[in-house]
Amino acid sequence: MIRSRAAVCIGPNTPLVVQEIDVAPPGFGEALVEIVASGLCHTDLTALDGMNASSVYPLVPGHEGAGRVVEVGEGVRDLKPGDHVIPLYGPECKECRMCLSGRTNLCWTIKPTRDRGVMPDGTSRFRCDDASVHHFMGTSTLSRYTVVPEIALAKVRPDAPLDKVCLFGCGVTTGVGAALSEIRAGDDVAVFGLGGIGINVVQGARLAGARRIIGIDVTERKNDLAIAYGMTDFVHAGREAGRVVQAIREIASGGVDVAFECTGLVPVMRQAFDCCQPAWGTAVLLGVEPPGAEMGFPPVGVRYGRTIKGSYFGGVKGRSGLGRLVDFYMDGRLDLDRQITHTLQLEEVNHGFDLMRAGESVRSVVRFE
Ligand SMILES: [Zn+2]
Ligand SMILES: [Zn+2]
Repeated sequence: MIRSRAAVCIGPNTPLVVQEIDVAPPGFGEALVEIVASGLCHTDLTALDGMNASSVYPLVPGHEGAGRVVEVGEGVRDLKPGDHVIPLYGPECKECRMCLSGRTNLCWTIKPTRDRGVMPDGTSRFRCDDASVHHFMGTSTLSRYTVVPEIALAKVRPDAPLDKVCLFGCGVTTGVGAALSEIRAGDDVAVFGLGGIGINVVQGARLAGARRIIGIDVTERKNDLAIAYGMTDFVHAGREAGRVVQAIREIASGGVDVAFECTGLVPVMRQAFDCCQPAWGTAVLLGVEPPGAEMGFPPVGVRYGRTIKGSYFGGVKGRSGLGRLVDFYMDGRLDLDRQITHTLQLEEVNHGFDLMRAGESVRSVVRFE
């Protein structure tokens, strides 16, 4: 048993409590990880606000962290103490039907227990005042020490700064990965929503060789960063309300090759579909819709060749694919530093989520050391 400072969410709509918890040793196939830094992501906010169906309270949030392996449990094959790792909310067991399919980066091997806030054996490694505290997304990176199954840990090169590459745990990979897998050189693309995901679709699009990179948002607050990352055109969704699709089509001579939806708003998903080039344009949905939402579109748009699809974690297989993106950062081809607008102590974690709610941060990173 080890004592750990952690942010604990007691229940929905209550501030996080920063306190000491007990962390049990890693079980079979698990590793104890000392977290060095953890970015704050919008999905944590959904758990704090009671809008996340896979939240079991009390819980330790956080799913965008990086740290060092301290101890490994029995049966761990490929990790040892001292290894630098990024916890993955989407594991890669390399053995299940999904992993072996060659068609998806999804792996649902431990999804049933992960979504109940426990480790694969059905129990939690966290305790506080003799009560069990649940894991969140299988990662719980807002604790100095956390336990994660080996299949949900991506080993990264030891020279990569953990307080930066933690962002590969969610937002950067989701955006950059989706751009790299969907865009061909010379494509015109639209990016709806220039937040933590959209901004990374923009830099991924630049890396993929896109021609026009059209950003769409209701605020110009993130435009300096978006332009630095490669945005060539901007459509103000407020000022151009009612003619957003038309404005995009005019810039892209008829329609974009790929449109990325990063807001989770169903009417915006429809705009992403409508602004695509008839006959081959693809709308890629990245934003998470409200529970129970449905979306409509005219079938003729699809019959004539448009595609509407989604992407999870940028289509990147966590354990075998993350190293390539870390290399891009280390080679200076991807930026992380400029999108980290705030660096916080764990005690300031509630302030970090307030900044997110107010739209004042791109990424806030909590540093443990
Ligand atoms: Zn996230
Ligand atoms: Zn698998």
